[in-house]
Amino acid sequence: MEYAVGRRSATKRTENGPNYMKKDRHDHELGMDRPITRRDFLNGIAVYGGAAVAGSWLAGCGEAKMRPLGQDAAGYNPSSGTGMRGSHVGSFETAHQVRDGTFWQKAGSVSNTGEVYDLVVVGAGISGLAAAYYFRQKAGQNARILILDNHDDFGGHAQRNEFNVGGRLLIANAGTLLIDSPSPYSKEARGLMDELGIDPAALAAKCEDHEAHRGLQSAYFFEKETFGEDRLVVGAPDFWRRETRISWREFLSRTPLSAEAQQDITRLEEDRIDYMPGLSSDEKKDLLSRMSYRDFLLNYVKLHPDALPFYQTRTHGLYAAGIDAVAALDCWALGYPGFQGMNIERSLPAPLSYTALGYLTPHEPYSFMHPDGGASVARHLVRALIPAAVSGHTAEDIVTAKVDYGLLDVSGSPVRIRLDSTVVRARNVGEPESAKEVEVAYERHGEVFSVRGKGVVLACWNTVIPYICPELPTVQKEALAYGVKSPLVYTHVAIRNWTSFKKIGAYRVYSPGMYHTGVSLAPAINIGDYKYPSSPEEPMVLFMTRAPCQPGLPLRDQYRIGRLELYDTPFATFERKIRDQLARILGPGGFDPARDIAGITVNRWPHGYAYEYDSLWNPEPEDQRPCVIGRKQFGRIAIANSDAAAAAYMDPAMDQAYRAVGELLAT
Ligand SMILES: Cc1cc2nc3c(=O)[nH]c(=O)nc-3n(C[C@H](O)[C@H](O)[C@H](O)COP(=O)(O)OP(=O)(O)OC[C@H]3O[C@@H](n4cnc5c(N)ncnc54)[C@H](O)[C@@H]3O)c2cc1C
Repeated sequence: MEYAVGRRSATKRTENGPNYMKKDRHDHELGMDRPITRRDFLNGIAVYGGAAVAGSWLAGCGEAKMRPLGQDAAGYNPSSGTGMRGSHVGSFETAHQVRDGTFWQKAGSVSNTGEVYDLVVVGAGISGLAAAYYFRQKAGQNARILILDNHDDFGGHAQRNEFNVGGRLLIANAGTLLIDSPSPYSKEARGLMDELGIDPAALAAKCEDHEAHRGLQSAYFFEKETFGEDRLVVGAPDFWRRETRISWREFLSRTPLSAEAQQDITRLEEDRIDYMPGLSSDEKKDLLSRMSYRDFLLNYVKLHPDALPFYQTRTHGLYAAGIDAVAALDCWALGYPGFQGMNIERSLPAPLSYTALGYLTPHEPYSFMHPDGGASVARHLVRALIPAAVSGHTAEDIVTAKVDYGLLDVSGSPVRIRLDSTVVRARNVGEPESAKEVEVAYERHGEVFSVRGKGVVLACWNTVIPYICPELPTVQKEALAYGVKSPLVYTHVAIRNWTSFKKIGAYRVYSPGMYHTGVSLAPAINIGDYKYPSSPEEPMVLFMTRAPCQPGLPLRDQYRIGRLELYDTPFATFERKIRDQLARILGPGGFDPARDIAGITVNRWPHGYAYEYDSLWNPEPEDQRPCVIGRKQFGRIAIANSDAAAAAYMDPAMDQAYRAVGELLAT
C-alpha cells in the first residue's frame, strides 16, 4: 500500500480561507488529510507492484517492441492496487472513443503483429477464459489462443483486491462474490468446475469458520437525512428470516420509525393476510408480474409511506435497483414479506427474472465463497490454461497462489493473455459466409495492433459489440444494444482491527438510506493457508455496496444515469462518504476513521450485472428476447459472455462460452 504526504490540506487551507478550513477540520477528523493512496497525485489511478499503469516500452524489435512493461514488469500485481479499481482509469476510454466515433480519427496506423491464432478471445472474464478452456478441450491442447482484455487484470468482474496491513495479507472480491446460481449448473458448467477441482459443497463444509461471528448480530443504522436521527439498532430480524431471535415488534420499538410505520412493518412481516382476496393463484401471479414491489406495498398492503425507506433499497444486492423497479412477482419468489397469507402456489411456470426463477427451481444448492469470490475461479482457469503463470495445484491453494503476470503473454506458449488491450475492431476477412479468418485490432498503450484468428469469440459485453463489429446486421446490432448492464460498486475498506464491531455487537450493519447501503465484516472463511482474522485485534476487510440507481425511472434509464454518475464520481468523493459513514455507524464502538482505516478500494462497475429480463419491463416471449437475436454467430465470429444469456451469474457465462466455441468448431 502506498502512502503520500497530505499535500492538499496544507496548500488549500491558505488558498480557500476560513470556509475551507471548516470543511478541512471535518476532513481531518475523517482522516481525509492522511491519504491512504496517492490520490492527489494520481487522481484515483491505482498504483501497484513496481508497475505504473502507463508503462514504458521495452526496447527491441518485432514482438518485444509491442510489449509495454505493464504485466511484464517485475512484481506486477494489479490486485494490490487501491483507490479506484473495477473499471479503472485507463480501461474504458478507448472503448468510449470507439463508441463516440472519434477513435479512428485519432488512431495512428495499425501495426500487424503477424500473429495468427486458432482462436482469439475478446474478454478475459469467466466467459472468455472458459471459452479458451473449452476450445482446447475440443480442438486439442496445442491450439494457439490469444485472449485480449482492456483491464490491467484478468477475471473481468471476477477480480480480486489485496491489502497488506502490518504485514498481513487480506484479500477480498473485487466483484463476483459467490459460487452460486439460481438454476442448477449445466452439465458443461459443472463439468468445467469439476475439472478445475472446485466442489462448492465440499469446500463450504471444509473451509468456513462458522464460529468467528459467534455472538455478533445483524444491525441497522438509521441516518438522520432519511429517518430524522442517527441511530444504531443492534439485533435485527434477518432479511431472509433466518435469525428468529428477535421479534419485529421488539426490533422496531428501538428504531426512530414512526408508530404507523412500525405497526405496518409488523403487519407486513408477520401477519398472514390475503391482499388480493377473490383472485385465483394464477390471477394473483399475473397481477403481481405487472406491478413493482413498491406498488404492491403501497396499493395492496397499504403500507404507510414512512415505512417505504426501510424497504426501498432491499433489492439492490440482487438487481442493483430499488423496489420501484423490481416486479412484485420476483419479490414473491424471493420470499419477501407480504405474500405469506396469499396462497400463491410456489410453482412454475411463472414469468420471473433469471435471478428469481431459481428460488422456485429445486436444485442442489451451490453456495460457496472463496475469500476473493469469483476471482479464484478465474485464477483456476488461468492456472489450467497457463500452468506456469499460477503457482500451486489444489482447489484450496489457489487463494494464496502467486500469479506471475510476466508469464501470461509469452511467445511460444499455446495460450496467451494480453492485458490493457482494448479491441477496437473484429472483422471477417472476406465475406462472413466464406471467411476463413478474422482480423482483430486492439489498442494498447496508445498504439493499435492487429492479429488474426481462425475464429473469434467475443466474450466481452454485448453493448460493445456493435461498435467493434459494425458489419453485423442492423437487427442484430439493435438486439445487442438493448440490454443495459447495471452499475454497482463493491467497496473494500481495510481496517487495523475490528474491535469496534465487537463492541457494538454486530458483524454487519444495514444502512438502507445511506451512500453505501450496508457494511459487513469479510465472510469468515479459512481456506488453505489463508486464515480469517478471527480475533478483533487483527486487521480486517470491510465490505460495502452501493447501487447508484435513480428510483422512479424506467429500469434501463436508471442504469444509464447511474452509470454516468459512477464515471463522474472521483475517488475522493467516495472516500469522504465512506469515512463519514463508517464514523457515524461505528462511532459508538470507538471507531476512528483517521486512525483505523488502512486502505480503501472502490471497485466501480459502471457495466456490472448482465441485464436480466423480467415481467415488469420485458414481457416478450423468451425466444424473441434480444439476447437470443444478438448472440447469433457471424461468419467466424461467435458471441459468448453473460449478456448473451441475460443472466448475471458465472455459470451462464460458462454456458455461453461452450455454445460459442461449439458454433465455431461446427463450421
Ligand atoms: C459486482 C458483481 C457481483 C457479482 N456477484 C456474482 C455472484 O455472487 N455469483 C455469480 O455467479 N455471479 C456474480 N456476478 C456475475 C458474474 O460475475 C458474471 O456473470 C460473470 O463473471 C460474467 O463473466 P463474463 O466473462 O461474461 O463478463 P465479464 O466478467 O464482464 O468479462 C468480460 C470482459 O471483457 C472485457 N471487454 C469488454 N469490451 C472489451 C473490448 N472491446 N476489448 C477487450 N476486452 C473487453 C471487459 O472489460 C471484461 O473484462 C457478479 C457480477 C458483478 C458485477
